[in-house]
Amino acid sequence: KLASREFQKKNTTVTVGKACFGGSRIPIIAGPCAIESYNQLYQTGVSVKAAGAAMLRGGAYKPRSSPYTFQGLEMEGLEIIKTVGRELGLPIVSEVTDPRKVGLIAEYVDMLQVGTRNMQNFVLLQEVALTKKPVLLKRGLAATIEEWLMAAEYIMAGGNNQVVLCERGIRTYETYTRNTLDLTAIPVVKHLSHLPVIADPSHGTGNWRWVSPMAKASVAAGADGLEIEVHPCPEEALSDGPQSLTPGNFSQLMSELKPLATAL
Ligand code: PEP
Ligand code: MN
Repeated sequence: KLASREFQKKNTTVTVGKACFGGSRIPIIAGPCAIESYNQLYQTGVSVKAAGAAMLRGGAYKPRSSPYTFQGLEMEGLEIIKTVGRELGLPIVSEVTDPRKVGLIAEYVDMLQVGTRNMQNFVLLQEVALTKKPVLLKRGLAATIEEWLMAAEYIMAGGNNQVVLCERGIRTYETYTRNTLDLTAIPVVKHLSHLPVIADPSHGTGNWRWVSPMAKASVAAGADGLEIEVHPCPEEALSDGPQSLTPGNFSQLMSELKPLATAL
């Protein structure tokens, strides 16, 4: 299998602009859950860049659990993130949810995110493979490691080897946290596969309080990067406010990660 260590011994590196996953650095992707306005994203982008983030994230198509909540700015959101990314010189990532729109969205972003709810949307995976753009493949919320790697296999078999895996928490019997961040998956996947693996402690915990400790734990476990939700005013966020860091808390986390990242 293309994603397996047997097939390829050497670690794969995935480069997105100046960010490189799987190499000696640990790029941090930061930004709001959803793109809400130009000002919101620009303000977030300036602060996360100043704190040392390597990439800017923001959802334009939001796969929300309820159809009655904010669904994202869609194409307008993509225009905003493309503009802000260019203005700040940060590569950008945004989620694709509809196989029919993948080709179009690939013209706006530097990396395509496949969300947890679509990890086994095989038609979507095949479309993403055709773009040849770097892909951030999030683990399905009830997917085994084997199923997750098989989803990566769909993208690679389709001709796109630029896959970064993202552990974002799985559903367990524990309800105190939104999900259970499976830290063990990080060394396990790195043993089974040559692909880079990053962690998303924001969705992994659902509460900003646990984001920083779990971010550091992920790096200690060998994560090749992190994806972290940051909002200039979390209590006013249209999506995932409770798990979003303020720019100040993000900057604090970045300074705490620095010695850890260089020590490993
Ligand atoms: C997100 O990154 O905003 C997101 C929706 O993530 P997930 O698919 O992991 O829930
Ligand atoms: Mn989110």
